[in-house]
Amino acid sequence: MNANEKYEAVIGLEVHAQLHTQSKLFAGDSASFGAEPNTHISPITLGHPGTLPKTNKKAVEYAIKMGLACNCEIEEYNYFARKNYFYPDLPKGYQISQHTTPICKGGNVLIRTNKGEKNVKLNRIHLEEDAGKSIHDADENYTCIDYNRAGVPLIEIVTEPDMQSAEEAFQYVTEIRKLVRWIDVCDGNMEEGSLRCDANVSIRLKGKTTLGTKVEVKNLNSIRNVKKAIEYEIDRMIAMVEKGETIIQQTRSFDAATDTTFAIRDKEEANDYRYFPEPDLTPFQLTEQFISGIKASLPALPNDLYTRYLSLGLNEYDASQLCDEKSTAVFFEKTTEFSKNYKAIANWMLGPLRQVVNEKNISFAEIDLQPKTLANLISLVDEGKVNFSVASLKILPVLLQYPEKEPLQIATELNLLQVSGSADIEAWVNEVVNKMPEKVKEYKKGKKGLIGLFVGEVKKVSKGKADPKVATQILEEKLK
Ligand code: ADP
Ligand code: MG
Repeated sequence: MNANEKYEAVIGLEVHAQLHTQSKLFAGDSASFGAEPNTHISPITLGHPGTLPKTNKKAVEYAIKMGLACNCEIEEYNYFARKNYFYPDLPKGYQISQHTTPICKGGNVLIRTNKGEKNVKLNRIHLEEDAGKSIHDADENYTCIDYNRAGVPLIEIVTEPDMQSAEEAFQYVTEIRKLVRWIDVCDGNMEEGSLRCDANVSIRLKGKTTLGTKVEVKNLNSIRNVKKAIEYEIDRMIAMVEKGETIIQQTRSFDAATDTTFAIRDKEEANDYRYFPEPDLTPFQLTEQFISGIKASLPALPNDLYTRYLSLGLNEYDASQLCDEKSTAVFFEKTTEFSKNYKAIANWMLGPLRQVVNEKNISFAEIDLQPKTLANLISLVDEGKVNFSVASLKILPVLLQYPEKEPLQIATELNLLQVSGSADIEAWVNEVVNKMPEKVKEYKKGKKGLIGLFVGEVKKVSKGKADPKVATQILEEKLK
């Protein structure tokens, strides 16, 4: 038996998402990214004596939003705790966090892999403040500290040890990034560190129910790296156990240059952070009204739309692509107000329009085409006035340049309207039949499949204007 088949992996993820509020979790300084170092700081952020923190209501709202989107139970009575430790990037000497009392409890996130659907169980989502940033490569002799990030609100989304493969973890983080962007609480940018993931990995013999010793891999700044790090860890741990070695609990880091991980510290015993309730902040009680107001403000979520799109007759691929990003789904939704040809809308959006969006590096929210105009373009094709290739290759480019024009107007102006009058079409048919005497003979001998070739030629000589249905009829009649 292959060693890998004897074992199964167990994975739990901790994802930190920076909430993109204007100000910090407990202070009025800007929470935005990318400013000159140490310009978004205040005495509160730096923990100067006599300063008092004050909770940012928006951050609380965003945390609840994410909790509701993940089917969590929302805790109404909340308080913060101090997590005490010394580190240069932590100016106060403690981090204000929600230790044992997360604002969101339980919950789940639906993912899809090639093995089907799975609801990944969440343990909690809690609020905490971010630390500053140590910069080791700015100066030869010193480590520099940038406190701009200190105090920026974070939610930490913690799963149960509920995933079994790197692929599941990959899909889970993809889903989390999609969700935070969808409900607009975090920009989801892993490269800039707005979304950060630590992966906890252990292995055990298949069939066992107790958990093995875990390692925690930090420093994963892309979803691909989450997957690679977990794959590497699973292989490494299986090899160790196969050699009779014991896995020790460790914190490891991922090296993207080599796709490997290395130990940064052993975790022999739990750290003692001397948690105690933050004395400078009063506990806060959420009202049912506050929570239900947030619930009512939530947009339709991607998984609900996915199910709806399947029920409209779209296939899984189309449905998932349309739900990949909110602006795409919104554009689809708006177009359905004007057209019921759902498949055509999906084909247009995931075909020619996606090409436009990709080329311009924009989203569907920014495309120069009104959903209603797309619907009119679809009707034009459905009514047989133009065919799809004329619509996409000739009319669409003009529409994108002159968004105020109507598809029918453009088709008329450019003389693109399909002709279904038999006299015109008959003339084109005659031209084609005269041009291809050999093929006509073959057809008459019984090679009926050639009809497609003739229709294609008629389309060509008519420059796409001949209605193919009428052309087929006339051709069949003529070649009898
Ligand atoms: P810690 O206190 O070390 O941060 P937690 O119990 O809070 O550990 O769990 C942190 C994360 O690690 C959670 O996502 C949890 O699901 C995961 N985890 C815990 N034990 C294991 C294990 N044996 N194997 C894999 N993941 C685990
Ligand atoms: Mg941890």
